[in-house]
Amino acid sequence: MRIILLGPPGSGKGTQAQRLVQRYGIVQLSTGEMLRAAVAAGSPVGLRAKDIMASGGLVPDDVVVGVIADRIEQPDAKKGFILDGFPRTVPQAEALDDLLKHKHLKLDAVIELRVNESALLQRVETRVAEMRSRGEEVRVDDTPEVLTKRLAAYRSLTEPLIHYYSERRKLLTVDGMMTIEQVTREIGRILAAIEAADAKAAAKRASARPAASGTARKPARRGTKSSPVGRATAKKAAKAARKGAKRPAKGPRKPVRKPGRKAPKKGAKKLTKRRGKA
Ligand code: ADP
Repeated sequence: MRIILLGPPGSGKGTQAQRLVQRYGIVQLSTGEMLRAAVAAGSPVGLRAKDIMASGGLVPDDVVVGVIADRIEQPDAKKGFILDGFPRTVPQAEALDDLLKHKHLKLDAVIELRVNESALLQRVETRVAEMRSRGEEVRVDDTPEVLTKRLAAYRSLTEPLIHYYSERRKLLTVDGMMTIEQVTREIGRILAAIEAADAKAAAKRASARPAASGTARKPARRGTKSSPVGRATAKKAAKAARKGAKRPAKGPRKPVRKPGRKAPKKGAKKLTKRRGKA
């Protein structure tokens, strides 16, 4: 699985990435973490990044792309990865496309965590308070002033990626205002549907392949018939993905309907209502 998590600071990318690491056994590649490590180590990359990060700006594309290109080469990234905080600009996304193309690798999904901006400052303040109470070092850029700059950078430079990945039929949007558990479940559903669709496509390819000898067997449809996320679900997921892709870059975007569910669950309905009231 190769996944990108997209969302503003405080949207929950890091939290969800860690859960995906547990579940899929793939690595989390957080450019923020890598750059902080470089700053701490005083490496050439760290020296270039230090002041920019502290002020809430974006580190130059060539620096981050270099960092990611090296990291993707590592053996632990072979099975797949979750990109958290990268790409953050259109040139970075283009560089990633080139990188993956060169390696004949496919990007499975871009999951956008959509949140109300008004909730972000509170979330970051809570994170800071929790870190302090655990005696951990607080990030220098986790102040209200710098957060405002980070959000501005997100809006002008990163948000265009929503359109970029929509056009490429990769974008799936999840309501990041739900609880952590609900967001995890939603992402899990999306990824299960993508896996089922992939399994179906692979089975189709296998059955289309001409038999090498007279003893060809019909391929088993693994992951489609037996899986709870069946063929119809895979189709729905593809449809949902396309639906998401058609969304305009600006204006209100509805979260993608849970793939594999005909109607929203009662709980989900209640949640929508609650959000509506709020
Ligand atoms: P957050 O998503 O909460 O803003 P991160 O830990 O992802 O925090 O990033 C912290 C800082 O690191 C950013 O504000 C930026 O300066 C730098 N950074 C991280 N990833 C990138 C990137 N892909 N391109 C440019 N700068 C980056």
